[in-house]
Amino acid sequence: MARRQFLGESAAAALAAATCASSLRPTRAAVHTVPVHKSGSLETLVVSDGHFLLPAGFLVTPDSPPAEREAALNAAGQTGEQLQLVNTVAVIRSQSDVILVDTGTGPRHQPTAGKLAENLKAAGIPPAAVTKIVLTHGHPDHLWGILDANDNPIYPNASYFVSAVEWNLWTDPDAMRRLPAVLATNDRIINGARNHFSHVKDKMRAVRDGDEIVSGVRVIDTPGHTQGHISVEIAGGDGIVVVADALTHAVISFQHPSWPVPVDHEPDRGISTRLRLLDRLVIEKRRLIGAHLPFPGTGFVERKDGAYRFVPT
Ligand SMILES: [Zn+2]
Repeated sequence: MARRQFLGESAAAALAAATCASSLRPTRAAVHTVPVHKSGSLETLVVSDGHFLLPAGFLVTPDSPPAEREAALNAAGQTGEQLQLVNTVAVIRSQSDVILVDTGTGPRHQPTAGKLAENLKAAGIPPAAVTKIVLTHGHPDHLWGILDANDNPIYPNASYFVSAVEWNLWTDPDAMRRLPAVLATNDRIINGARNHFSHVKDKMRAVRDGDEIVSGVRVIDTPGHTQGHISVEIAGGDGIVVVADALTHAVISFQHPSWPVPVDHEPDRGISTRLRLLDRLVIEKRRLIGAHLPFPGTGFVERKDGAYRFVPT
């Protein structure tokens, strides 16, 4: 109850900040950090990296029924052919570690994103305090935040965890052929992934389904969005699953989980992973954190009308 009240106040503060932004009245600071869960020695919070724009055609297949496509986009508050997505990072603190699940976009993507490091600092977490970074996959909005504009690692004391399949994907000389059409238009994504991985490869450890990052925090395979996409499960209490881009959009991924997603590297596997994950989250009444669900990006899943519904809390 106390936590819900806190989230309610956070949302109110964010709204107040947004509402006042265009006036000259003093504003309350926007909320960039929200505590989500605490169990035993593990504490989980979410920190904003900002937001960015994405072509709607990346997330919604042009083959979807036009009326349903429009309804889904309207329900998500989106108009036109650009989607605005928030980018949110889960931070897990244990007695000895500060673990990031992904790192945001860094300075090379869009000016409205790449705010993770400064928001962490504002929350009292300097870059040097971060000890472990789990990279769910190699897309720019999750990986590129490991380096600053001069290609120096932002988190000097971190070691890195990525799935072996994902590492093999981006280092494959034929990687371009394993990308979806919407991403294979130029080599920026591949070169970006290779450059970022290359600067930390000596501190990189390959992980597999079930591997523990620290006690109570383990990796689960959720392939499809990319070939080696992983999620992170946090034990304790009812537990949490940090789903990253296995569930990308608060309306489309939940109400239309069987629509193939154009930006998924393996759309059929993306669908089966989504359905399996959604079922599990419903049955186990498990909290989730999603990178691109409306900030703070956490809540539960319900079954609704033969599909699912994201219930933010
Ligand atoms: Zn993403």
